[in-house]
Amino acid sequence: MSLNPLLRDPARTLLALDFDGTLAPIVQDPTKAFIHPRAGAALFRLAEKLGQIAIVTGRPVAQVRELASFDAEQVPRGLVVFGQYGAEWWDSETGEAIEPSQPAAIAQAMTELPQALVQCGVPQARIEDKRIAVAVHTRGLDEGAAERLLPAISALAQAHGLEIEPGRQVVELRMPGSNKGHAVHELSTRLSAKCVIYAGDDLGDVPAFEALRQLRASGIETLNIAVASDGQSVVDEFADLSMPSTDAFAGWLETYADALSI
Ligand SMILES: [Mg+2]
Repeated sequence: MSLNPLLRDPARTLLALDFDGTLAPIVQDPTKAFIHPRAGAALFRLAEKLGQIAIVTGRPVAQVRELASFDAEQVPRGLVVFGQYGAEWWDSETGEAIEPSQPAAIAQAMTELPQALVQCGVPQARIEDKRIAVAVHTRGLDEGAAERLLPAISALAQAHGLEIEPGRQVVELRMPGSNKGHAVHELSTRLSAKCVIYAGDDLGDVPAFEALRQLRASGIETLNIAVASDGQSVVDEFADLSMPSTDAFAGWLETYADALSI
């Protein structure tokens, strides 16, 4: 696929990227899902040319900054991280951050979760406190575990007015309203983007892929990239371009950075 349409107006191009499975390979321990070194290096080069680079992730902003080693001194220019599906926000250029406080409904669900997991026979599932959301991880458990805990999670969601976000070996409860599609729309509008690229690997990325389809209908150049991670492609049907691995996607970012530098 030709890169030419993506080179026409770099200053008004938005490159929005999921983190896990897209910029960082999926690993057994999610606290060690570090950014692919070649992808990280390519982001620094791309940030010099493109109007906006954004990481749009289900993780809290602080985790992504740590896993990507982005601190105040070492971070791509003008990078924005939208964390927790857009509910948290950090701008590397200004240092500005928005981190909403924990909603009462999430706090309540957190309290009730351990008992609910015992009742549905999955007490070993790992609960992650994401402050404004709560995730239940089933990585490493038997294959039916995710299915067995869904009724309990659904009941909690209903009781507290929360939304369920299913992912790969994880299900998350969060406040309604924020999704990756809203985040991408907001960034695109802020930049008056002429070109928007989005890359992701999982079901949580679907609203962003759909947002790009809407932007395309309004005359904006768009490219949806699906990355296969953990040996699976679950979002290929939404993509214009499919990558077989995070490694291959890191290579694509390098090729794009090279093309912009000519
Ligand atoms: Mg992902």
